[in-house]
Amino acid sequence: MECNINYVGKWNKEDVYYCINHHKKASINGKKLDECICNKKDYEKCLTINKEDIYSIKFTYPNLLTNLKSTLEVNDKEINILYIGKSMLEKRDFGGLLLSKLNNINLEVEVCPYCNNVHSDDGKFAYKPHNPHLCAYCGKLFKVDHPNVGNEITTIFNIPDLKLDNQCIEIKSKLKIEYDILKNSLLVNNICCNKIRINNEEYYLKDYLNEKLYNEF
Ligand SMILES: [Zn+2]
Ligand SMILES: [Zn+2]
Ligand SMILES: [Zn+2]
Repeated sequence: MECNINYVGKWNKEDVYYCINHHKKASINGKKLDECICNKKDYEKCLTINKEDIYSIKFTYPNLLTNLKSTLEVNDKEINILYIGKSMLEKRDFGGLLLSKLNNINLEVEVCPYCNNVHSDDGKFAYKPHNPHLCAYCGKLFKVDHPNVGNEITTIFNIPDLKLDNQCIEIKSKLKIEYDILKNSLLVNNICCNKIRINNEEYYLKDYLNEKLYNEF
């Protein structure tokens, strides 16, 4: 897919161009680029599907002890981008959903007034209510009535709150987080728990992931 670059205005006093096909910035230091900063290869691993045809969505961090890499599997196929109707869902949006649900955030449907797409929050924005929001679809900032958090996935699927077992598990060389969105299960190294112990230090899973994924937006 080719870039589709538009001028969106100023962020921190700097002219910004934005690619609405890849949802990435297309300028550096106020200067327009010929192509946006995305990796085109990432967008080849995508799936366009009707909601009714989806039987499984799994979002995984294979090992958060070593890196923040994540995987998304829809109907057992690994992809980077999921297109459903006019929604373009990225892996970070599923990471955002995981954080919002862990933090019991009430997710609201905020529609960007410039492009009419639904806003999703990721990283720290997924658990810190904020205003304004930066639209990933068009790159514009928009104000809402009250600080809040949104996620477009909730307009497509009914996502209940997460229920974690009250137990702590020991983490040694691997920390795999597996979120099965349609089954509403969250597993840490295949176990349902709300606390983890790493190097004799105990953390609530929520706090650990909030900090670890703070900049994943
Ligand atoms: Zn682009
Ligand atoms: Zn936002
Ligand atoms: Zn927009």
